[in-house]
Amino acid sequence: MTLRQSVGMRLLSTLADLALPAPCPGCWRTREWRAPLCGDCTAELAAAAPRPVRPDPPPRDLPPCHAIGAYHGVLRELINACKERGRHGLVTPLGERLAASVAAAAPGERPLVLVPAPATARAARRRRGDHMVSLSRAAVARLRSAGRRAAVVRGLHSAPRPDSAGLGAADRAAAARATLSARSGVARVVADLTTMWDVAPKSAGRAVKSPIFGTPSVVVVDDVVTTGATIAAACQVLAQAGVHVDAAAVLAATQRRSRRPA
Ligand SMILES: [Zn+2]
Repeated sequence: MTLRQSVGMRLLSTLADLALPAPCPGCWRTREWRAPLCGDCTAELAAAAPRPVRPDPPPRDLPPCHAIGAYHGVLRELINACKERGRHGLVTPLGERLAASVAAAAPGERPLVLVPAPATARAARRRRGDHMVSLSRAAVARLRSAGRRAAVVRGLHSAPRPDSAGLGAADRAAAARATLSARSGVARVVADLTTMWDVAPKSAGRAVKSPIFGTPSVVVVDDVVTTGATIAAACQVLAQAGVHVDAAAVLAATQRRSRRPA
């Protein structure tokens, strides 16, 4: 897809959102004009409380992880609509719930550094943007409005990798370790945040500079945790680059049907 086509598709998607009483992306029933989702789905999303989740078996180096719900039903529909169908109107409501997951994963007063799990360049092109960066920025905006100091640091890079849908836990772990890397200078960026400046994400409008006091909690964020392989690999490559990850926060956790790795 060319850049012009990509921009055109995004514009059409936005216009469609504005102009048509499209079905709610969570339940496929009618929604209010211009609302990103219907009242019932809004209420269901808002009511989902963050809770600790742990894949079984947990991979080595997986930090404590929180999710706001299981990966099914309305939550699953909304994540996929945002991720794969370009429903950019869902970034704010889902980002707010990601903020709740982050706050539960790293409670207290310490500043927060959110490191989004990266999309491959190909996936980002196909999805017309990296949805985890958008969700992280929306989460940071929410955390800041609640008085928490927070910033997004895009500290990870993903090389092209095979679709992990059919892979077992061990193969997912190997694929994640082989393709994830820390961006150069990530430790310096995080260290500078702790001592100098807190730079607002672009989505917050103007850049706000204010001092951050204290060592931040570093939280890896992703949309869905299944085996935990991606988050564990992210923690490993960040640790090798000098960044300690304190916790992980996701929107949804896949419920495993079997204890046997499948
Ligand atoms: Zn709905």
